[in-house]
Amino acid sequence: MHFPAIGDFYQRLLFLLPFSAIEFSVPTTVLGERPFLTGGLLRDFYEARAVHFHWGSSQRKGSEHLLNGRRYDLEMHIVHRNTRYQSDEEARNQTDGLAVLAVLFKVVRTSYLFYQPGLNEIFGSLLHLGDFNSSYTPPAFLTLGSLLGNLDRGNFYAYMGSLTTPPCSPAVVWHVFAEVLPISHLELPKFWQLRDRRGRPLLNTFRPLQSVEARQVFHRRASEAYVWSK
Ligand SMILES: [Zn+2]
Repeated sequence: MHFPAIGDFYQRLLFLLPFSAIEFSVPTTVLGERPFLTGGLLRDFYEARAVHFHWGSSQRKGSEHLLNGRRYDLEMHIVHRNTRYQSDEEARNQTDGLAVLAVLFKVVRTSYLFYQPGLNEIFGSLLHLGDFNSSYTPPAFLTLGSLLGNLDRGNFYAYMGSLTTPPCSPAVVWHVFAEVLPISHLELPKFWQLRDRRGRPLLNTFRPLQSVEARQVFHRRASEAYVWSK
């Protein structure tokens, strides 16, 4: 079974376009292309469309996925849409409509920045996004590759799941990286300063944990084909 060589295609720039939460759209290049995924559980090609985050508060950790029963502080989603579908609305109504890469973050007490250029650019941009519906274009070009940094892209969990925001339809092939990236305790609170449309703090933007039910969760490691994971 072949799995996507994610890094090869992630050489494109991003703009910043926050909606109800912070979100970055992934534009096409001058050649009209977007980075894409295929292989593994994905039978078709899935183009990167947007990047967004889920977070908690000073009281609660905010990742949506738990690894071995542990919740983390922040989660990034890179959303890809099946190229067979023309719109997000159409894709949301198909069981193979979307593929999402999920990266978990653990807060670390440190006063220096980790070498994660793309992520540091985004975290720095949050201070410009205090109010609902504001937008900001970072001075530096971002690439999707720079968001993943040195993350081990060959080690992840994959399963057929659902959207974590309404309508929560079963439309997503999830890929959750096993490696957890660090985020400084000075950077994480920048998410808690964002405001909703009524000017209130935008906190705890994660969906409550769902039962795994009868889903099969696959674990892929670099040197192996898919293996079962409990
Ligand atoms: Zn999400």
